[in-house]
Amino acid sequence: WVVMWGKQTHLDPWSSDFKLVDRYLYHLRLPEETLMDVSKRFRQEMDRGLGRDTNPTAAVKMLPTFVRSTPDGTESGDFLALDLGGTNFRVLLVKVSANGKQRVEMENQIYAIPESLMRGSGTELFDHIAECLANFLEKLGIKDKKLPLGFTFSFPCQQTKLDESILVSWTKGFKSSGVEGQDVVSLLRNAIRRRRDFDIDIVAVINDTVGTMMTCGYDDHHCEIGLIVGTGTNACYMEEMRHLELVEGDEGRMCVNMEWGAFGDDGALDDLRTDFDREIDAGSLNPGKQLFEKMISGMYMGELVRLILVKMAREGIVFQGHTTPDLLATGHFQTSFVSAIENEKLGLLSAERILKDLGLNPSPEDCVTTQRVCQIVSTRAAHLCAASLAAVLRQIRDNKAAERLRTTIGVDGSVYKNHPQFARRLHKMVRRLVPDCDVRFLRSEDGSGKGAAMVTAVAYRLAKQQAE
Ligand code: BGC
Ligand code: MG
Repeated sequence: WVVMWGKQTHLDPWSSDFKLVDRYLYHLRLPEETLMDVSKRFRQEMDRGLGRDTNPTAAVKMLPTFVRSTPDGTESGDFLALDLGGTNFRVLLVKVSANGKQRVEMENQIYAIPESLMRGSGTELFDHIAECLANFLEKLGIKDKKLPLGFTFSFPCQQTKLDESILVSWTKGFKSSGVEGQDVVSLLRNAIRRRRDFDIDIVAVINDTVGTMMTCGYDDHHCEIGLIVGTGTNACYMEEMRHLELVEGDEGRMCVNMEWGAFGDDGALDDLRTDFDREIDAGSLNPGKQLFEKMISGMYMGELVRLILVKMAREGIVFQGHTTPDLLATGHFQTSFVSAIENEKLGLLSAERILKDLGLNPSPEDCVTTQRVCQIVSTRAAHLCAASLAAVLRQIRDNKAAERLRTTIGVDGSVYKNHPQFARRLHKMVRRLVPDCDVRFLRSEDGSGKGAAMVTAVAYRLAKQQAE
């Protein structure tokens, strides 16, 4: 087999296998004009979300975060942080010190959230969170201190101030009952009160995109956008207060959590969605919701590839028409497989191993085909992100009435960080769609953990300044 491989590595993009897959997946390959059009549609969605009259029916909610300034480096103190809604649930202790050189140190512990709790009752979920917090404080011997806490809660929330956050709807893998429409700060405070063994000062709730922007903003003061491409996808940016019609006041800026994963929920992307996208949505925990996210993020990418391979197998295009119980099982083609298969050097060997693990007996051509399917799905994801990001960049540029915009985007998320080609494709397409912007992409080091502490620290600094 490996000897045969020699021949296969000479396959170039114009070989028959590639052409066949490319033709088969024609609707997933979006030309640059289409992406430009998506970008324009997204810019309109942003306007609709920001406008007082249009917001109630807008798909992209453009949620105010009540975060008004990025760190200036003078923040300091000890802060706790909770991070819920990414790949892992974590509790952190963050030490921010300003003395000359800015430094952020931390302790950090991952706790499991069993699936039964993600889809059970909200009370049980918040009791579990409080218990993990208690365990963490005990371990560090700080249970008697009433530390300020920032809560990164990576779901769409309606906020009226920093420490009140009403869950609009669960996304990704969560669906606990009795939380939607409730303030998650009260739910957490009540769970802690029920225990009676420690006390905490909950200062801020933030989205992971905001945390990402804030941690990057600590190192680069040009940072005014936060982007996540992980289990879910979303972005935030600093918007002029005068454009935020839902919030009183016209002075200065406020960070907006766009919740761009909901782009298309009103049908705006129906012409671009394929049968595979519709199948993903139909089988999800939240049908009809987060349609843009379902075309992009890590929770769905592997599953999209699987659905395509199943259809191709059934039509006799791959695997000599064979399927296996594993190939047919929902979730058995993980997004991490897509990353492995697109590895430049070892991708085809990974494809062989992964397909064999799924019980298949792939030919070299099958491996090449599978790799091409992965490329097409992940490229579409990167390019769709680029289209919406381009709209945000144009908005910021227009706000500043600048001819050229120089800005930084803080980025985090498992797809962005682990996929071997995703970041490069995203950067390249953004630069093509907005050639008149100098964009720097900065990988966030644990934005959703440290970010919550940063927001809490900034809130503390501002409160102190106000008191002075
Ligand atoms: C959530 C966003 C979050 C994103 C990335 C989406 O499903 O709605 O709030 O920022 O995932 O974690
Ligand atoms: Mg206003």
